[in-house]
Amino acid sequence: MISEAMAGASALKTAFDMAKALKDINDAATRNAAVIELQEKILSAQQAQFEMSKRVDELEKELAAIKSKADERNRYQLKDYGAGTFAYELKPAESRGEPHHRACAKCFNEGKISILQFSHKTEGQDWFDCRRCDHNQAFGVRVRRDTDYSHHSDF
Ligand SMILES: [Zn+2]
Repeated sequence: MISEAMAGASALKTAFDMAKALKDINDAATRNAAVIELQEKILSAQQAQFEMSKRVDELEKELAAIKSKADERNRYQLKDYGAGTFAYELKPAESRGEPHHRACAKCFNEGKISILQFSHKTEGQDWFDCRRCDHNQAFGVRVRRDTDYSHHSDF
C-alpha cells in the first residue's frame, strides 16, 4: 500500500518534470519520444492509483466487518452464575428483541458467539450445552445429596 503510493507519487513527479522539459525540446523526433515516455509515466501513476483505491475498498470492508463483530460482542457481559461458573450473558439493554440467553465463554473467547441450550438440572445446578464446541457445563453451586444414612440409627 505504502510502496504503491510512493511509486504513484514518484511516477507523477517524473511526469511533471518531463512535461516541464518538453517545451525546451526542439527536435520533433526527440519530443515525440519524450511524449510517449510521459504517457507511460502517467499510465503507471494511474495504475498505482487504481491499486490503491482497490486496497482502500478492501480495508474499508475489513474494518466494517471488525466493527460489526465488536458491536455484537459488546451486547454481552461475563457473568458468574455461582461458584465461579461463567458464561456471557446478553445485556438486557442490548437485547434488540432477542430473548434472554447465555453464550458459551469458551467460544466467545475464540471470537464466536454460541448460544447455550438448557440441558437439565441436577444437584442444584443448571446444565447447559454448547452446540458449537460440544461442551456441557454446569452452572451454580453444586448441592450434594446426603446419601450417608449411617447416622439414622433410630429405626
Ligand atoms: Zn462453546
